[in-house]
Amino acid sequence: MSGAIPHELGRAAVIGGGPSGFYAADQLLKAGFGVDVLEALPTPFGLVRAGVAPDHPKIKSVTRVYETTANHPGFRLFGGVRFGRDVSRRELRERYCAVVYATGALSAQRLDIPGEERTGSHPATDFVGWYNGHPDFTLRSFDLSCERAAVVGNGNVALDLARMLVQDPAGLAATDIADHALDALRRARIREVVVLGRRGPAQAAFTTPELRALGDLAGVDVLVDAADLELDEHSAAWLAECGDANARQNLQVLREYAARAPRGHDRRIHLRFRCAPLALDGEQPDGPVTGMRIARTAICRDADGRLCAMRTDAEEVIDCGLVLRSIGYRGQALPGVPFDADRGVIPNDAGRVLTEDGRAVVGEYVVGWIKRGPSGVIGTNKRDAAETVAKVLEDAEAGRLGPTVHQDASVERWLRSRAPALVTWAGWRAIDDHETSLGARHGRPRVKLVDRAALLTVAATTAGATR
Ligand code: NAP
Repeated sequence: MSGAIPHELGRAAVIGGGPSGFYAADQLLKAGFGVDVLEALPTPFGLVRAGVAPDHPKIKSVTRVYETTANHPGFRLFGGVRFGRDVSRRELRERYCAVVYATGALSAQRLDIPGEERTGSHPATDFVGWYNGHPDFTLRSFDLSCERAAVVGNGNVALDLARMLVQDPAGLAATDIADHALDALRRARIREVVVLGRRGPAQAAFTTPELRALGDLAGVDVLVDAADLELDEHSAAWLAECGDANARQNLQVLREYAARAPRGHDRRIHLRFRCAPLALDGEQPDGPVTGMRIARTAICRDADGRLCAMRTDAEEVIDCGLVLRSIGYRGQALPGVPFDADRGVIPNDAGRVLTEDGRAVVGEYVVGWIKRGPSGVIGTNKRDAAETVAKVLEDAEAGRLGPTVHQDASVERWLRSRAPALVTWAGWRAIDDHETSLGARHGRPRVKLVDRAALLTVAATTAGATR
């Protein structure tokens, strides 16, 4: 079938098969382009497969939308192809009329405090990749033998981590959590997770449904100190004048938690505010973490009017044997592609890639977290992709995009020469069938293959299928 489909506007390459890549692909296909999605992993769907917590299956059901995109005759998936290693920017520009970067933001921000690298301190990205069976994180190990863990950060990822650490693993056994993580969580001794926000409750980044869901966890008490919810003058004024609905609703839920008498469960999530990490302590200079030194903070306004955390002299140590740093993701530079190292994004004007000195690069575009930074929910990427694809179309209509000179079949042959274990959509379908039928035997949505070689072996059963 490949090579036989007319694409009125040429064929575009989308680099990255996560949500933003799929939304961009969908809109490009609808506009009349053919689309090849090049993905480094053997599996598509990015953070929907490797980021969304296993106990949130509804969020994962968005993959049905991406399957509809993949059914378009102009769509092709090439998994197992790494940009910069297997194919270069120049080579793609020679073969595609447009290249759209959709590589997300996979690295972790750093706290930059003493002791950050101690054993037992990990970026959230590693823990999330591990429990979700991302092949790059399968071999990580986490010592879950301590009773108290600390999670730094007040975003939705921090709440995901808290839930995953304290909930009864029996419930997780019915999800698509990676088997190695389920085994480890069954053996875990963690009884309390302290979640630390450096600013106050009105500035928390988590969304109210996620906050509310903590209170529904069976066998878990959610603890909030009423004193932590007393609003400083700046937060009170902000809430009264312009505060958003999410902040107001979060406060309401937090007040409900603070008023609740603990039910005496042996597992707890303690939400604390105005606590900034100062250092991770241990008994030996390079020994495992035994505690986190924090400074209590006060909310102040900075020169731009933003409410920020200012350290006070009050300090304390939270005893803990595991620290997860959940302070946001960060985009990585792609070889040869302009990059704004301060923001961790590809510089762009509404999706058109810009050179470091601000000139538009004809034929190169960007979508998703690598375009705007790591913010928003999955659906945010749909609007974001629409903005970028509008720019692709504008350039196509103005005749600024070169013609696609290579045949679809020759591009596929070239990709296979660079990445012999390439996974097409048919290969992914074989993996999907394999995982879901394993899952069906155990009452689970799927049992994930977590090892690259195993994924490639199953995908190879479809060798010869081009879509
Ligand atoms: P996030 O929402 O940006 O939250 C990052 C948190 O880290 C903020 O509370 C921030 O505090 C804190 N932080 C940053 N630097 C810090 C430092 N040096 N010390 C202490 N705290 C620090 O990021 P995220 O949780 O990684 O989530 C990323 C995106 O994915 C968000 O848009 C999120 O909503 C989305 N997501 C959604 C779901 C869902 O819908 N279920 C699940 C997971 C993720 P400040 O505000 O003070 O900077």
